[in-house]
Amino acid sequence: MHRPAFIMNHSNGRFFRLESWAGISYVDELALSFQNYLMILILVPNTRQDSPEYKQLLAHLANFSGISTRVHTEVGAEQTLSEIYLIGNTKVLSIEDVRLLPCVDRVVRVSEEYRVLGRHENDDRPTHFDYNGVRFGQDSLNVFAGLCAVDTIEHVEIMMKVLKDHGQVCTRMGAYKPRTSPYAFQGHGKTCLPYVFDLAGKYGIKVIAMEITHESHLEEIRNALYQTGNTTGVMLQIGTRNTQNFELLKIVGRQQDFPVLIKRGFGITLDESLNAAEYLASEGNRKVVFGLRGMKTNMGDPHRNFVDFTHVPVVKRLTRMPICIDPSHSVGTRASSPDGILDIMHATAQGIIAGANMVLVDFHPAPSKALVDGPQALLMKELPQFLEDIQIAREAYQKRVALVERYRGEESSMPDRSIATF
Ligand code: PEP
Ligand code: MN
Repeated sequence: MHRPAFIMNHSNGRFFRLESWAGISYVDELALSFQNYLMILILVPNTRQDSPEYKQLLAHLANFSGISTRVHTEVGAEQTLSEIYLIGNTKVLSIEDVRLLPCVDRVVRVSEEYRVLGRHENDDRPTHFDYNGVRFGQDSLNVFAGLCAVDTIEHVEIMMKVLKDHGQVCTRMGAYKPRTSPYAFQGHGKTCLPYVFDLAGKYGIKVIAMEITHESHLEEIRNALYQTGNTTGVMLQIGTRNTQNFELLKIVGRQQDFPVLIKRGFGITLDESLNAAEYLASEGNRKVVFGLRGMKTNMGDPHRNFVDFTHVPVVKRLTRMPICIDPSHSVGTRASSPDGILDIMHATAQGIIAGANMVLVDFHPAPSKALVDGPQALLMKELPQFLEDIQIAREAYQKRVALVERYRGEESSMPDRSIATF
């Protein structure tokens, strides 16, 4: 008996019918798409919500039965961007018709997965954002070298000075540390923030990646920044242990003052971690960077975690987020290979040659005195070599992109061989 089987294509959520005939299997796409239930209307920049056109648009949308709307507005330095989410049976709407409505610039139909941060068909929404004068995008690269944990004011100053001497404007500084043991140093918390922010201002640091583990830390950071004259900026970090702390994600997602670096959960699937990032965006904050930091499994031994930087292009393909790699917490040791290159530098180069956009890395002026993760810290004198090594890998990545473009160009200018006769 002929029995067609249905399989789902996870990349676009559509069903295919798998049939077997005369021993040959083939797939036949059915128009059984079940996911096209959401449509995003991207409005013309600076659309005013009190304008007659906007009111006309909302009145029009209210006529669509079975469809509800949710408005998302992002106020930027130069322009205000608004999007209207249509949720419900949007399959009955045609993209072309909706595009003609007042104030509508573009229309994107999205699948259920990673609605806000994902990449969708005909989706040309940006893959970058700017924060405190620094661009974070799928096309840029920023290095965040710094202390895993702030210990002394002297170490903070040495670190920041070395960064400035090497043209760096970003760093990492842990004030709130999630530790495996309750007896281990938990970070200086809010007490170190004033001198960290003061010194950042003094040495021209524009963005500090700083993990928070509780919603109260948000206010502490905001207050300390204010008291020290907002001379620097903070990228909030959600650590791997909190990737699925949904209440924390919602609170961090509801604020738009700070961008967020969310680390992949070390013991959950990539899909679960990407959904965690989506929590931030669904609450309103799309300034999200996704951090790869290795997976917890003994298969990765002798590294601290199994390095997962081959997922850099995967996450870029699935989402619009810039991708960070953390070679320190994934490799976790200062071991080096016979070529003399530290495993941490090898892993960094591997992530960058695959297109990573941010590097979060532990440095320390005196690793033996570090209160957290000293054994994986790079030394001050290694910073110039690290930066040069990164530059080599970045140039190699850029050459690889140029290469693929050249081959693509050659392909499209080649005569169509499909009609060639032999
Ligand atoms: C960190 O970056 O300091 C950190 C604790 O990282 P992770 O959450 O990836 O372990
Ligand atoms: Mn650490």
